[in-house]
Amino acid sequence: MRRIHVITTGGTIAMKNDEGAGGAIPALHGDDLLALLPRDIGAVEVEEYCNLPSAHFTLDTMWGLCARVAEVADDDQTQGIVITHGTDVMEETAYLLDLTVDTDIPICLTGAMRTASEVGYDGAANLLAAIRVASSDASRGLGALVVMNQEIHAARHVTKTDTQSTDTFKSPIWGPLGRVDGDGVVVERRVARQHVYCPGLNPDVHLIKLSVGMDDGFLRQLMKRNVAGVVIEALGGGRVPAWWMPGIREAVQRGMAVVIASRCPSGRVYDGYGYEGAYRDLADAGTIFAEGLNGQKARVKLMVALGKPRDRESIQRLYKAGA
Ligand code: ASP
Repeated sequence: MRRIHVITTGGTIAMKNDEGAGGAIPALHGDDLLALLPRDIGAVEVEEYCNLPSAHFTLDTMWGLCARVAEVADDDQTQGIVITHGTDVMEETAYLLDLTVDTDIPICLTGAMRTASEVGYDGAANLLAAIRVASSDASRGLGALVVMNQEIHAARHVTKTDTQSTDTFKSPIWGPLGRVDGDGVVVERRVARQHVYCPGLNPDVHLIKLSVGMDDGFLRQLMKRNVAGVVIEALGGGRVPAWWMPGIREAVQRGMAVVIASRCPSGRVYDGYGYEGAYRDLADAGTIFAEGLNGQKARVKLMVALGKPRDRESIQRLYKAGA
């Protein structure tokens, strides 16, 4: 019988209060999580990959998880994969899986906003919903999904929007792909997959957020270190202060991949302005535009894109194709 394979990685869904630690820490293991589910849930197998707050994830943790998920997806006994994960960087892991694990099998990430010690622990309901989505034929071919608060979100669009709410995951502009209603999985909208060949992440990719009147010191520091790439969360539709342009031009000329995302919570990077530091100026300087990705996902994509030698044009094509 084909089964759902649950991979646990930690996060609040696995946490309980610990007096010695002065707060909640990872405590539940795979079997503890499965014990929360109804008996008639079907064939479910669980394995523990790690038990970490997601703030403690390294790029190696994420990349190793992708490798393990690819192995499990290759097993013809696997119907779907569920990953329990901290919510803080869940969108980054989901997007990395989406880009690099080439499978039609549903990969559903879920977690919790309340620990197992709190009233209203949301972990059991989220895990059950994720298993239902992973078991559904309607989820096949949708890539990696985030299933939280009964909603199904595409990895490419979803982001954590609230520090405390159980309704924290949103897909700005596009909305969820579907919902889990009782024991039914309803997928109303489908997204096209984008698979990018990546033999390994390039970790030398950085993220700078712009704010009013900032000097370009962070960029200059990265140029001194000769880093492979930087994502700049620029203003509005893709604009930087005029005094950032010499540094950006120099960085591009030296071969650094400079990607422009927006610090706005939603929308593509594009504008029609003619002033210095606006979209057209950045395009002339040879920057790459992240289209509709937020800064943290634009960085994931650049780490993937630079995992093998690629020129500016082909990196820009990758961002356009996955928009
Ligand atoms: N601190 C948690 C984490 O591991 C937050 C959560 O899971 O909601 O990301």
